[in-house]
Amino acid sequence: MDSRLFRNAMGKFATGVTVITTKCDDDVHGMTANAFMSVSLDPKLVVVSVGHNATMHEKIKKAGRFAVSILSDEQEEMSMYFAGQIKDKREIEFDWFNDLPVISGSLANVMCRVYEAHPAGDHTLYIGEVEDIFVKEEGAPLAFFEGKYCNIS
Ligand code: FAD
Ligand code: NAD
Repeated sequence: MDSRLFRNAMGKFATGVTVITTKCDDDVHGMTANAFMSVSLDPKLVVVSVGHNATMHEKIKKAGRFAVSILSDEQEEMSMYFAGQIKDKREIEFDWFNDLPVISGSLANVMCRVYEAHPAGDHTLYIGEVEDIFVKEEGAPLAFFEGKYCNIS
């Protein structure tokens, strides 16, 4: 099957946008991801799907922990930056929770330890057990639909 057809179909599923972050040794790394889902309430689990070509894959595997920052509609540039779509390297000021970096100003931050990792084709599904959560009271989400950013509020 043609990959473009697959991506066009998957693009019809509107999602929010997150930045996954981790700290591996003393290196902080971030990556934009929309393949994020809540999995279980007891225990509290979430999942992210990370491509094997992404630097993030080895970083999470090694660190055994990661955080998910759910972006607001004011953070489109942050999403583009952590997707490698803005080429100049920037100095990012992360917030910190329990020794995990997160994107400040996000709608929510979810701090996890890797509970299970399942290779699936050219990605690995990292299931995270939630260790801590921060929720911002106000703000609207950044959305992604048909390969484009959009606002839903
Ligand atoms: P890199 O490409 O090396 O890093 C990304 C960018 O972040 C670079 O510009 C880098 O300089 C910068 N950066 C990273 N850490 C820091 C730091 N500490 N300080 C300053 N700058 C830093 N891919 C998936 O695997 N799964 C998904 O679910 C997914 N969803 C996506 C959703 C959207 C809307 C978009 C646009 C892309 C998505 N991607 C997804 C693709 C993914 O974001 C890119 O392929 C990304 O470039 C891969 O990241 P990487 O770990 O290889 O890091
Ligand atoms: P697009 O048209 O490529 O994306 C539409 C949808 O297709 C995405 O929401 C996702 O569900 C799916 N998709 C795209 N690439 C995929 C991949 N490599 N593996 C699994 N599913 C994928 O949108 P775009 O604006 O051209 O995307 C920008 C870049 O970000 C592209 O290079 C794309 O491959 C990448 N991306 C990767 C993923 C992912 O790995 N899960 C998700 C979204 C975007």
